[in-house]
Amino acid sequence: MPNDIFIYIGENAAGQVIEYCQEHHKDKLMLVADENTYAAAGQSLEAKLKAAGFDVKTALLTGEEIIATERYFVDVMLQTGQEERAYIAVGSGSITDITRFVSFHTRSDFMAFPTAASVDGYTSAGAPSVIVGFKKTVMCHSPQAVFGDLAVLSAAPQVMTASGFGDMLGKYIALADWQLGHLLWNEPFDAEICRRVQIALQSCVDHAEAIGQASQDGLQALLDGLIESGFCMLDFNGSRPASGSEHQVSHHLEMKLIEQQRPAVLHGAKVGASTVIMAGLYDKLRQMSRAEALERLEEAELTPADVHRQAIRAAYPAIADKVMAEQSKFLAMTEADFDQLKHKIADHWTEIQAIAATVPTPDQVTTWLTQVGGATTLQSLGFSDAEVAEAVRNAHYLRDRFNVDKLGHIIGLSLVSVNHDFMPTR
Ligand SMILES: [Zn+2]
Repeated sequence: MPNDIFIYIGENAAGQVIEYCQEHHKDKLMLVADENTYAAAGQSLEAKLKAAGFDVKTALLTGEEIIATERYFVDVMLQTGQEERAYIAVGSGSITDITRFVSFHTRSDFMAFPTAASVDGYTSAGAPSVIVGFKKTVMCHSPQAVFGDLAVLSAAPQVMTASGFGDMLGKYIALADWQLGHLLWNEPFDAEICRRVQIALQSCVDHAEAIGQASQDGLQALLDGLIESGFCMLDFNGSRPASGSEHQVSHHLEMKLIEQQRPAVLHGAKVGASTVIMAGLYDKLRQMSRAEALERLEEAELTPADVHRQAIRAAYPAIADKVMAEQSKFLAMTEADFDQLKHKIADHWTEIQAIAATVPTPDQVTTWLTQVGGATTLQSLGFSDAEVAEAVRNAHYLRDRFNVDKLGHIIGLSLVSVNHDFMPTR
């Protein structure tokens, strides 16, 4: 999918919005913000646009927790009225997704003015939403333009910046998982896109200190990286280059929070902490000799599909059928298929270890997260040991992908997190 999204990240982004809207004849604008993002950026942007002669209205969203859900979709539509206006989302992930949804379903133009470098989803076409209590990504559209103002971004709460950095660190796992999926499960792979994500990730890691200090240089590198990651997903036409087992653990926990009506936890915070866990699994692979791997493969037995189905029903009762459909290829595995897969793992052990070697150690990931002020454990984000263990055990069911946790299950290497230590179990 070719993308021609206009991106500006720099000083005085409001000036760029004015220029862009004049050039593209967008005279009537609708800003969408909440009280915080209005104070941080919306008010000033609104004043500058009005001074430049634009007809501007602002939908101010209120409430304790603003998430992309019916309530806010309708709220924005009612505040906009029936006039044709080009939307500008002034906020982070949720406000952008609410605006993405409404602008798409009213066939309106859509631009994004992110107030935090907190996620890589700004440029995506899908709007992760909670609809009638269920989380789903609704395909909508990408913004025509994204305007990142470095002064606004560096004044964002550090937890938001740390969340964006956590989302980026997750790419270590996502890329390694993608390569495993390609090697062992014939999943489509694109070396050029993989390289682009690697470069974006490396730049963020190189700027970890600057990002921790919320300097404009740091924020520039982080938002550049997040936007490039978003572009890689658009170009691949899927999230595979940017989302692996670490994202699946995060999705699992997010669904549990919604189910239990608990307050949301920032996406990238969950992803960052899950990255530490998955880096632990890669660390074990890296250290495992071929002889030990062969011995474990020798002992490995195909788990009957019924056992998986039971586990899926227990873990995801409300969406069990959907999860089973997603897992159909894995559930259909015969003894012969399993044998073939084991041989493949044995034959490619050196390559598997080379892939594992691209993932930093859990200690290194922890150091980076600490440097930017991010959470290093899921427990510190409010999840119990049991919830973390359950997420790590089951999250591999959530996508039709071969990730490191699938490999871990086959060779009898799973991770349970107890008291923040990662213990291999057999
Ligand atoms: Zn993400």
